[in-house]
Amino acid sequence: MADVTSTWTEPSNTPLSLLLLGKGTDPASERGVDCPGDLPAPSDPDLVARATAAKAALGDRVFVLGHHYQRDEVIQFADVTGDSFKLAQQAAARPSAEFIVFCGVHFMAESADILTKPDQKVILPDLAAGCSMADMAVLGQVETAWEHFQDLGITDQIVPVTYMNSSADIKGFVGRNKGVVCTSSNAKRALDWSFEQGSKVFFLPDQHLGRNTAVLEMGFDLDDCVLYDPHKPHGGLTDEQLTNARMILWRGHCSVHGRFTLDSVREVRERVPGVNVLVHPECRHDVVKAADYVGSTEYIIKALDAAPSGSAWAVGTELNLVRRLALAHPDKQIMFLDRTVCYCSTMNRIDLPHLVWALEELVAGRVPNVITVDEKTAHEARVALDQMLALP
Ligand code: SF4
Repeated sequence: MADVTSTWTEPSNTPLSLLLLGKGTDPASERGVDCPGDLPAPSDPDLVARATAAKAALGDRVFVLGHHYQRDEVIQFADVTGDSFKLAQQAAARPSAEFIVFCGVHFMAESADILTKPDQKVILPDLAAGCSMADMAVLGQVETAWEHFQDLGITDQIVPVTYMNSSADIKGFVGRNKGVVCTSSNAKRALDWSFEQGSKVFFLPDQHLGRNTAVLEMGFDLDDCVLYDPHKPHGGLTDEQLTNARMILWRGHCSVHGRFTLDSVREVRERVPGVNVLVHPECRHDVVKAADYVGSTEYIIKALDAAPSGSAWAVGTELNLVRRLALAHPDKQIMFLDRTVCYCSTMNRIDLPHLVWALEELVAGRVPNVITVDEKTAHEARVALDQMLALP
């Protein structure tokens, strides 16, 4: 894709107040929950040996999942690595594992709980590992928006679609209202299916994935999309805007991918002539438009595996993954798209001390930090997840 100048103005990032990590609680979100245990010190030289011993003692009773954005110190203990959907599928494919230790964030552990058997326990080593994007769509806000759509008489035309990166509550809302879950790999297929069911889509919670898919993959106009801001009355939109829109985008974004800017792309092109710019579709629209390639985490991994030796790549996704890919391909010049360090702070909550603590608790016969989704929500969320699996 070429670097093009547009008159359209990219919306500013959604403000999100953050609690001090690990301090205090916010019942309306996944953030800021204390970890109840006695954690080993990060400086403990025996952490690797302790994790190895605890995992060996648990044997097949435990299955450790590691998201691609996790730290190296944790990833080395993962039985399988992947994106959120692949990990949820992997959890479901291990019905004999009593404990699924999910090294990722809260919404991923919820999806694993929804897809695994009732007697399996899904454990998140640090309960403060939430996701700021998932937190930007709270069920009460979404229901308020839906009620307004009902008042306007447009809900019959609307199909709700939620990105995998949302809470179980939101997936349940979508299942209840005959919608579908999508991932960054199948967002176009999910939208194609949705526009066969209705004439509008209500896309949650990532405005960028929704906009990028509709405009760049389906040929929609930017004016076909409106941005619903849950912090403003009626989303800050007129009745006419809502009635005319084809895509109603929720005002949420990923705080990692939302940091890349058009300037990052321009700067790297000047600095590294011939560089290939490869970004995730959670990036802003102008960034994706200016990039050469766009795709999900799994797509990024495959593209770099297949890239010719000596080629140069600036990658716009989470830094732990970009670092590992650069180390795995020393024959290619792989760099982070932005000059500023950009880890996902909540993914990074899961560190070796938390993993050691969780595994040793299991060895001691205690089951810490179990993530459970209530039966009704799980059932409704499964409807939306099953609809995704049934996409043509
Ligand atoms: S990278 Fe973005 S979407 Fe993924 S967990 Fe972190 S904040 Fe959430």
